[in-house]
Amino acid sequence: MKQYEMVVGLEVHCQLATKTKLFCGCGTDGFGSPPNSRICPLCTGQPGVLPVLNKRAVELAFQAALALDCRLNDSSIFARKNYFYPDLPKAYQISQYDQPFSEHGKLTIALKDRAPKTIGITRIHMEEDAGKLLHEVGSLKIDGSLVDFNRAGVPLIEIVSEPDIRGSEEAYAYLTALKEVIQFVGSSRCDMEKGEMRCDANISVRPAGQAAFGIRAEIKNLNSFKNVKDAIDHEFHRQVELIESDGKVVQETRLWNVETQATVSMRSKEEAHDYRYFPDPDLVPLVADAAWVAAIKKDMPELPAVKRARFIAELGLSSYDADVLTGDKTLADFFEKAAAAAPKTAVKTVANILSTEMLGRLNADNKTAGEVPFPPAYVGELAGLVVAGTLSSKGAKDVFAKMWESSKAPKMLVEELGLAQVSDDKQVMEWVRQALAANPKAAADLKSGKEAAIGAIVGGVMKLSKGKANPALVNKLIKEVVQA
Ligand code: ADP
Ligand code: MG
Ligand code: ZN
Repeated sequence: MKQYEMVVGLEVHCQLATKTKLFCGCGTDGFGSPPNSRICPLCTGQPGVLPVLNKRAVELAFQAALALDCRLNDSSIFARKNYFYPDLPKAYQISQYDQPFSEHGKLTIALKDRAPKTIGITRIHMEEDAGKLLHEVGSLKIDGSLVDFNRAGVPLIEIVSEPDIRGSEEAYAYLTALKEVIQFVGSSRCDMEKGEMRCDANISVRPAGQAAFGIRAEIKNLNSFKNVKDAIDHEFHRQVELIESDGKVVQETRLWNVETQATVSMRSKEEAHDYRYFPDPDLVPLVADAAWVAAIKKDMPELPAVKRARFIAELGLSSYDADVLTGDKTLADFFEKAAAAAPKTAVKTVANILSTEMLGRLNADNKTAGEVPFPPAYVGELAGLVVAGTLSSKGAKDVFAKMWESSKAPKMLVEELGLAQVSDDKQVMEWVRQALAANPKAAADLKSGKEAAIGAIVGGVMKLSKGKANPALVNKLIKEVVQA
């Protein structure tokens, strides 16, 4: 059998994180709200209404484009995409067509055991969402369909990739990286369970070595990264089998069926001219005014890759710690605040506490660093106590667990729990002398150079101090006494 290669291009929709819809003042919090409770004459397509573009939506869209290295076009046009469907009351969707607001971007993705790869981004355009058809109420199947317009007019960006993706692993990595960047800049929350990030996958196959692309199918209804991966793999095999049995792939839209784990044909692929695109006469061209764009750029948060490099160069983190701590914006912010509250020498300890204790807790409770029950400065303080020798690393774990339960400050908890290590020279020296006197054989061995004997003396000190002597100090003082 011939070798085949898959070619994939992804179209990703992200809901812009605005309070109100793209062309009216209705709230975007319709998910989980009563059906048709976030609607007005405009977003339900009543006669006589006029759309007004939401400035914040444009700013968030521009930030997403800048974060994806896209060029912002000086001027872009909103166009009507005409089709009838019951969830689209105007019978057209306001979108952008031949003059989108942004083009020519790129995104670098991380791949397992391979060098990173850069995927081209063809364009990003803005558009409004449609409503939603309901075929059941709760678990009750109904005779007919109901329509909920809460989502109609919600602002979206559509990010169209070049056909640069060559496998399901790359598709998965692309989506992961895309979500990370978009969430980082705050353009979209990308909550897939709420439909805030959705993906269509275009896939074709070609014999290895052939330059021309094959005929593509577009797969819709992919509501998780795993579904994208599974659907692409399935579709690849379907197309290869078809070609091998002398069949032809037809350009069509297919649906992914999660139950059967197979794609099924939905409709032959519509062409752009079917939609009768034309500029929306109710909206003026969107002009990317230079001063406005400069202000938007200034307002951009630092991107993950830049932050990662800075954490390594300025804060001395390992590349592993920097990766972990920049994986999520809320975590990166938490870390920076915690590190700022810690002594300079304790920054590495802050990173350790966050990547082990705190991430463990967050993962277990399925929370983000935005929901931690105490302020970041507490972790800085805790790390400071460890570095100063007041607290052992075991003690730090205990204090962290209590902080999570009680939201009390570390110093207070160290006292309450009696966890403070004794780092007082005089007190520790006293214990060292007693331990040496109690074990003359080990003391003599130590003096004659048998270093292993130190364990018995350290053990003696720990017993006398009920485990509270600072181990580093104990070792130091024993050596001083023996060498004197
Ligand atoms: P449409 O409106 O037809 O969906 P778009 O321009 O919105 O067209 O998106 C086309 C998508 O399909 C892009 O992501 C592009 O990279 C991808 N694509 C185009 N040709 C092929 C092909 N032969 N095989 C796989 N993907 C393709
Ligand atoms: Mg498309
Ligand atoms: Zn409205």
